[in-house]
Amino acid sequence: MSVIPLRIGATELYWLSGGDFRLDGGTMFGPVPKSLWQKKVPAATDNTIPLGNDPLLIKTPGMNILVDTGLGNKLTPKQQAIFKVTSPWSLLSQLASLGLGRQDIDLVILTHGDFDHAGGVVMVDEQGREEVTFPAATHLIQEAEWPDVISPGRRAQESYWPINFNELIKSGKIQLVQGVHQVCPEVRVCLTGGHTLGHQLVEIASQGETAVHLGDLFPTHAHVNPLWVMAYDNFPLEVIACKERYLTEYRKRDAWFTFYHDPLVKACKLGDQGRLIDCWPQCADQATEL
Ligand SMILES: [Zn+2]
Repeated sequence: MSVIPLRIGATELYWLSGGDFRLDGGTMFGPVPKSLWQKKVPAATDNTIPLGNDPLLIKTPGMNILVDTGLGNKLTPKQQAIFKVTSPWSLLSQLASLGLGRQDIDLVILTHGDFDHAGGVVMVDEQGREEVTFPAATHLIQEAEWPDVISPGRRAQESYWPINFNELIKSGKIQLVQGVHQVCPEVRVCLTGGHTLGHQLVEIASQGETAVHLGDLFPTHAHVNPLWVMAYDNFPLEVIACKERYLTEYRKRDAWFTFYHDPLVKACKLGDQGRLIDCWPQCADQATEL
């Protein structure tokens, strides 16, 4: 976890550990030849690459907001082996170290419903009972995402798991939004589609500073080329169009681009042709030159 926050005006951003895992590098870079992507992210002998699952805590003057929830604590030993989980879901202990309990999260924004983002929405307690992890929080999801959550199709079944939503649905703590929705003075969400039908971005803007969380449209800093999409993207042509649009738009605003799956770079600023000009934490010398 980042102990020192990245400050965006009056807000503070912290990256929490939602469990690290390893996925096949080929699936993470879709149509890109391995000879190209492995120069940026070296693969292990089993072709996997390391990935974080880092929920973003946004502390605004009025709210504690969590963007996505990590892998959660419900994976079976078999699932942990399949996904090569290398570190546990540590959200609650990390929030505690920031003086926050489960009741203190006011809002959970789900970029989309895949298990690596929604796995921590529902947790199991010490008695093995499933319960909503952040019971005071409203859970904000795009309406376009909801059909795949409640009735996933053949492909969505692989990553939209009822166990991550059943208790949430029972609790009723869900807000479905359409398109652009202003959450509070500093934070808004916007429907993007692309990765999934109802995927959304999160924008943080305060006192003239901006950060944007593009979720799985821009999973690591190595995905800066708009054509470098993932095999997991449901609508890759939309992802390409979204990346071209949002990278241009937010670069003009000198915004921080924040990452969920990048094991090293948690946020960066981009210059011409996707050049990395600033990096959080300060690690530009270690980051892949793009
Ligand atoms: Zn993901």
